[in-house]
Amino acid sequence: MWSSASAAPVEPVENRAYFPPVLIYHDIKAKVVMEGFDVSLAEFRYQLDWLKAHGWKALSADEFLGYLERGEPFPKKTFLITFDDDYGGITRYAAEELEARDMGAVFFVIVDSIGQPLSRREYYHASEEKLKALASNPKFTLESHTMSHPEYLTRLTDEELERELIESKARVEELSGRSVRLFSYPCGDYDQRVIDAAIDAGYEAAVIVDVLDAGEFDRPARWTIPRINMGVVFGARGHRQFKSFMHHYKPMSDEEFERRWARLPH
Ligand SMILES: [Zn+2]
Repeated sequence: MWSSASAAPVEPVENRAYFPPVLIYHDIKAKVVMEGFDVSLAEFRYQLDWLKAHGWKALSADEFLGYLERGEPFPKKTFLITFDDDYGGITRYAAEELEARDMGAVFFVIVDSIGQPLSRREYYHASEEKLKALASNPKFTLESHTMSHPEYLTRLTDEELERELIESKARVEELSGRSVRLFSYPCGDYDQRVIDAAIDAGYEAAVIVDVLDAGEFDRPARWTIPRINMGVVFGARGHRQFKSFMHHYKPMSDEEFERRWARLPH
C-alpha cells in the first residue's frame, strides 16, 4: 500500500534482496559471567577481525537509516552493531575495539540505569561521562532503550508508555547532543499500540531482540527490525555458526528461530 504520494514505499525487510544483519550484544567482559548473555572480549575481537578481514562494513545509525529513508537497497556486506542496556563493558572494552577497526555502532541506553551498579557485582552500567565520550565519536550513537526498562511495554498505561518513549528520547538527546532516532523494545516486547506510540514519539525505526518474521503488524518492517543475538547464538558456541550466519544471513521465521536457538531471558 502507498502511504503517501511523496515518499517511496519502503520494502518490508523480508522482501529485500539484502538486509544488513543487525547484531545485538549486551555486555562485553574479560571473562564471560553469564553464558548466553555476555560475549568475552577475546570472542568479540575475533568476530570483529573476522568481519573486517572478510570485507564486512559496520554502518553507523545515520548510514543505516539513510538507506531505509531513501528506500535504497543496502550494499552487500553491510551490517549494524548494537548494544543494549549500557553495560560497563561497552566503554571499558567495546568502544576501543570498534574504533581501532573504524566500525560504527549503536548503543541503546536505559536512562535510569546510567552509572548504576547491578545487584550482582560483576555487572554495572556505564557512567554519564563515559557515555558522553562514546557519543563524541561520529560513528557511534546513543539511542533509547526506555527510562526504566519495563519488562512489558505492552502492559503499561498510555501515560507510562509515553513517558518511557518520549522522556527517554529527550534525556538521551540531552546527554549526547544529537537526535535520537532509534528505539529498542526492552525484552523485545511490543505490539501495535507500542509501535504507534514509538512513531508518535518521533522515532524513525525500532529493533527487536529476535530474528522474527516482521509481517504481522500493520506498519513497515522498520518498526520490528530483527537482530541476531550474539550472546545467545554465538557467545558460547564457537565460531562456525557465526561465520555461517554472516555468510548466509536472511531474516528467518519465528518458528525457525525457536527451533534453532533458545530465547534470551532479557
Ligand atoms: Zn534490555
